Amino acid sequence: MPAVAFHTLGCKVNHYETEAIWQLFKSEGYEKTDFDQTADVYVINTCTVTNTGDKKSRQVIRRAIRKNPEAVICVTGCYAQTSPAEIMAIPGVDIVVGTQDRHKMIPYIEQFRKEREPINGVGNIMKTRVYEELDVPAFTDRTRASLKIQEGCNNFCTFCIIPWARGLLRSRKPEDVLTQARQLVDAGYKEIVLTGIHTGGYGEDFKDYSLADLLLELEKVEGLKRIRISSIEASQITDRVIDVIDQSEKIVRHLHVPLQSGSDTVLKRMRRKYTNEFFAERVGRLHKALPGLAVTTDVIVGFPGETDKEYQETYDFIRDLKFSELHVFPYSKRTGTPAARMEDQVDDNVKNDRVHRLIELSNQLAKEYATAFEDDVLEMIPEEKASEGDLLVGYTDNYMKVKVQGDENLIGEIVKVKITKAGYPYNEGQFVRVVDETKKAAVAGD
Ligand code: SF4
Repeated sequence: MPAVAFHTLGCKVNHYETEAIWQLFKSEGYEKTDFDQTADVYVINTCTVTNTGDKKSRQVIRRAIRKNPEAVICVTGCYAQTSPAEIMAIPGVDIVVGTQDRHKMIPYIEQFRKEREPINGVGNIMKTRVYEELDVPAFTDRTRASLKIQEGCNNFCTFCIIPWARGLLRSRKPEDVLTQARQLVDAGYKEIVLTGIHTGGYGEDFKDYSLADLLLELEKVEGLKRIRISSIEASQITDRVIDVIDQSEKIVRHLHVPLQSGSDTVLKRMRRKYTNEFFAERVGRLHKALPGLAVTTDVIVGFPGETDKEYQETYDFIRDLKFSELHVFPYSKRTGTPAARMEDQVDDNVKNDRVHRLIELSNQLAKEYATAFEDDVLEMIPEEKASEGDLLVGYTDNYMKVKVQGDENLIGEIVKVKITKAGYPYNEGQFVRVVDETKKAAVAGD
């Protein structure tokens, strides 16, 4: 049996796609081996979101070549899409495939074995208008399954290279999303995370079908217990989406709504298409309609030209909006984007100081949010064993990370826990019971 080894860099979408590529190899009779073992084929799924992503991708490619110079080295993903020539120039790279045409990878390998000539299979992603269907009926080792529902993005924010790596927005056909959701439920997953490059933009390229429609249909998938939307823009939180979440028994009480900056002048330079007033109105409406909802966000600190005043505007805006957690990123120049060419790049020390202050604010907000749930009983899915004792770690539906005493066979099940102590990054919880009655007998002392 030929052996294939994978290494994935970057985001959830890349991890999802590696699983899809593995399915292609599996159906051709390959077995999977670890990346540090000798394999016949190495697949490196690259990332290009920052300049460091490129560098790390190159290091991993070289590592595979050193491990087995006889193996076929196949490079795919975002960096492969944007810079195929740079990758082909690395001696030992045999095949480059971008973010589309992954199903051609195996025929390319056969072609390479016959002809021994490097193959550049990267096409023009900007011309692709249709979502490329790739099936992932199960995942190798995760409790939460991702389900990719769309590809690409039309926004072209000035700091972001992603539209050049992924192309324009394309949504996956509803029937294919539903089929995959059912397959994942059959494989034992209770929760699925709807993923994409611009997930909340689902349906924007369809005539009469939107994210809200898809959510309504997913609600009806039997056996599916939890639906999480990985990210949604403020403009995509329509009143209808709020209504659907409100009526739903499966969509979790957590939304990730990227802010990036709370200063209108910075938002404009970023070419984000909203004002902070609009953002605040949408999030305010969410909180009103769905009390207790956790709203997390991304912030970029030290965007070119960010003044103390603009930073303070962002800080105050975030504090007032009561996010339950922030993902704070120092702005990092991405070659090829308009922002990388802007003057007034912010000094690294200033950037670091601003990042730290926002991280402190995030810790404080997370604790405040969690404190409101002390003594409440919440539902969580334990995902793994904690490093110490016989504790399990997992997330509640409203995205609080909880440590709870419990047996390993509870991993992947929905359980009720009482929050005994709010904290960050972990909350402490006490096991109450398993929600799925059939599993009840498995719990000692229950
Ligand atoms: S919305 Fe902006 S940041 Fe997000 S993928 Fe699109 S261009 Fe990049």
